[in-house]
Amino acid sequence: MVKKEIEEEEKNISEIDDLPGVGEMTADKLKDAGYDTIMSIAVAPTSELSEASGMSVASATKAQIAARNAMDMGFITGTELVEKRKNIERITTGSESFDELLGGGIETQGITESYGEFGSGKSQLAMMLAITCQLPKKDGGLNRDVLFIDTENTFRPERITQMCENRGIDPKKILSRIMVARAYTSDHQMLLVDKIDEVINKHEKKIGLVIVDSLMSLFRSEYAGRGTLAVRQQKLNRHLHSLQRAADKHNLAIYVTNQVQSNPAIFFGNPTKAIGGHILGHASQFRIYLRKGKAGKRVARLVDSPYLPEGEIIFNITEKGIEEA
Ligand code: ADP
Ligand code: MG
Repeated sequence: MVKKEIEEEEKNISEIDDLPGVGEMTADKLKDAGYDTIMSIAVAPTSELSEASGMSVASATKAQIAARNAMDMGFITGTELVEKRKNIERITTGSESFDELLGGGIETQGITESYGEFGSGKSQLAMMLAITCQLPKKDGGLNRDVLFIDTENTFRPERITQMCENRGIDPKKILSRIMVARAYTSDHQMLLVDKIDEVINKHEKKIGLVIVDSLMSLFRSEYAGRGTLAVRQQKLNRHLHSLQRAADKHNLAIYVTNQVQSNPAIFFGNPTKAIGGHILGHASQFRIYLRKGKAGKRVARLVDSPYLPEGEIIFNITEKGIEEA
């Protein structure tokens, strides 16, 4: 084929059923498994694709090559990257020193993860951000709406109301701009994120923040046995990829919470680490370790940032939400 024809053919691939060997039925199967974009097919493990669609590995490979060719593989110059990063905006945590620790607040275009024991303040921070994201820019917000995926049934409108009332903000207005979805299984949770473009495009106001509280609880309980770890990590990888894609595409912030597992191998220092393994460690640009401090205070530690120094600050959880200690 001459180059022009190849380009013509590639241009015509925009939906997954435009791919070679993918008919209506195969497309439906792929969509059911969450592969509903050219991108998701291009980056999927071939074996998973073949399993999900019933295609042979050879056919799946062929479809995948076409998907990859049809796609702009996403190389951009350093100069363009500087331009893109200029659009990054930040959401205040409610505490000045917490914001400083994060270089000014929770960033758009990236995933911020907090992990820590039960009661360390992960969900309190989630609810706080659901409020501050909506504030005007001069008050540390984005003036944008919020999507909240709740997997543990811990989102409390009453708590949002309390935080607002103590800050002199109208809680009704704030609550009307937080879209909450309960996720009951990890597949349900993934589906909510896979469909996020639809939700964002339908929503009349701009979405500035997507919260997943908690990211890992359903994955953890459903994939408990050792033998299931590989599958869990594959799914988690795809899930995080969808989240990051939404963050890039819509210049929005992602805040996820995570749990800790005790690590019996460590006898000194802190015996806990985040679950989710390397996949999550690499996906989240900001990892915050939260723990309880003295006299009801909380400690936030920034771990593994790509460009900020590690550090620790103290904050309070009060009737106002997150506050300076
Ligand atoms: P997790 O890290 O498990 O998500 P949370 O973010 O839900 O934990 O934090 C729960 C803690 O937040 C409680 O133990 C309590 O100390 C504090 N907290 C919750 N609600 C209030 C409130 N209305 N006023 C003051 N502190 C609160
Ligand atoms: Mg919680």
